[in-house]
Amino acid sequence: MKASPSERVIVVPCSGIGKPLGSVSREAVYELVENTRKGVTETICLALLVSGDKETLQLVRNSRCIAVDGCPMQCAEKNLKHVGGNLVASFRVVDALKQNKKLKPKSVTFLDRDGLELAAAVASQVARKVDEILTE
Ligand code: SF4
Repeated sequence: MKASPSERVIVVPCSGIGKPLGSVSREAVYELVENTRKGVTETICLALLVSGDKETLQLVRNSRCIAVDGCPMQCAEKNLKHVGGNLVASFRVVDALKQNKKLKPKSVTFLDRDGLELAAAVASQVARKVDEILTE
């Protein structure tokens, strides 16, 4: 069943261009919004948020948002906070990497097997949080 826009959880990946961990954050979010939590999650373009797009600002202020960042710079979280977004949880790929030390994603443009495995691990952590939020 598709949730109404106000019920959906907005999951925001960092832009992470040129960094494998940023690519993992995007892949994890795609996995959620297009597959495992389709219909109850939605994502936005971080660049629209940063550039002050009115519709995007309204969406993140009026919805529950989760940031999924690649590294400790936490660009998605910082930008959500900066614009007054309703941030309810944050995840960092670098933390998932510490829990999955055998994985070493290297490729940036197209994720290698380790990158995809790490993205799946992050996606399942975020999915559990989405479920928690939706039952609050
Ligand atoms: S959080 Fe890290 S990987 Fe993501 S955009 Fe910022 S600097 Fe790049």
